[in-house]
Amino acid sequence: MENSKQMRTWLDDLKLDHPLVIAGPCSAETEEQVLGIAHSLKDTDVNYYRAGIWKPRTRPGNFEGVGALGLKWLQKVKAETGMKTATEVANRAHVELALEHDIDLLWIGARSTVSPFIVQEIADALKGTDKIVLVKNPVNPDLALWLGAVERLATADIKNLGVIHRGFSTYEKTKYRNIPEWQMPIDLQTKFPDLPIINDPSHITGNRDMIFDVSQTALDLNFDGLMIETHHDPDNAWSDAAQQVTPSVLVQIMKDLKIRKEDNTETEYKAKLNNLRANIDIFDNQLLETLGKRMKTSDAIGALKKEKNVAVLQSTRWNEILGAMILEGETKGLSEEFVLRMFKAIHQESIRHQEKIVNG
Ligand code: PEP
Ligand code: MN
Repeated sequence: MENSKQMRTWLDDLKLDHPLVIAGPCSAETEEQVLGIAHSLKDTDVNYYRAGIWKPRTRPGNFEGVGALGLKWLQKVKAETGMKTATEVANRAHVELALEHDIDLLWIGARSTVSPFIVQEIADALKGTDKIVLVKNPVNPDLALWLGAVERLATADIKNLGVIHRGFSTYEKTKYRNIPEWQMPIDLQTKFPDLPIINDPSHITGNRDMIFDVSQTALDLNFDGLMIETHHDPDNAWSDAAQQVTPSVLVQIMKDLKIRKEDNTETEYKAKLNNLRANIDIFDNQLLETLGKRMKTSDAIGALKKEKNVAVLQSTRWNEILGAMILEGETKGLSEEFVLRMFKAIHQESIRHQEKIVNG
């Protein structure tokens, strides 16, 4: 990935005055649906029209896509609206069919990126192509696996590359369908600043009401674009109904998003500030997440103490913790006073939790 500068040539060549937008339905369902949505997205800021033709479903029995027939509909979209087209490919046969039908942008789905065999098969089938190829992050938060897929494509002489951040699956239920783990795309941008990175708020949130906020965070973190699933009748979509928005909602989202162009010092300052603030928000959320988990652990200790009839407050243990944390804090540039105050507050909350359990 030494020539990563080449990777973003395709994006720079588009000379966009706004972030790249890829939009269209999760799945192509019927010719009428594909063309209908496309016509409502024509003459908007949408650059690429997406539709899933082959759908990798986690469980069998869900809609698995219309197959090659849908590629003809995408060709019609291009002929009738001028929009470029995009679809997911997951094996050599998909690649060959997509190329035959002149699809402009191909992406590798999250369930394919996890498999080096599949990624290699796709890379071999695409060897030397000048189509744009975007790699979605693997379902599990593994940066090496994600980068490994990009490397396989780069090694197959595929130059127009990029990545899509669509979040990561967790066993625990969270407010997201796939948690963003923003730190990972941030690390990736630091390592490969020229690799275009697109955010997919639809698969991160799984919920249309959260699309705007996640999109705004992504733009504040300097993502190059967005992929947003758009359907004329989201509630009756054949796949991913809860997360799709209508074309008019998409247009409103694109209008409301604060897109920070870096064209003068004032906006450059604002862009930098927003970027740093977005980073701070991520850390603050991580702090709360960690504190929540810490208090749950305190609750478990409270339950143990109750069982053994032991006092809640054990000051020797507490003094040991505090001493160690002050030293550790110093190595991170945190003042003794701050560490003391913070841990006193944490300790008080912890005691409150334990007392509730012991006396409750
Ligand atoms: C999709 O984009 O419709 C899709 C299946 O996404 P992912 O691979 O991110 O789950
Ligand atoms: Mn989908």
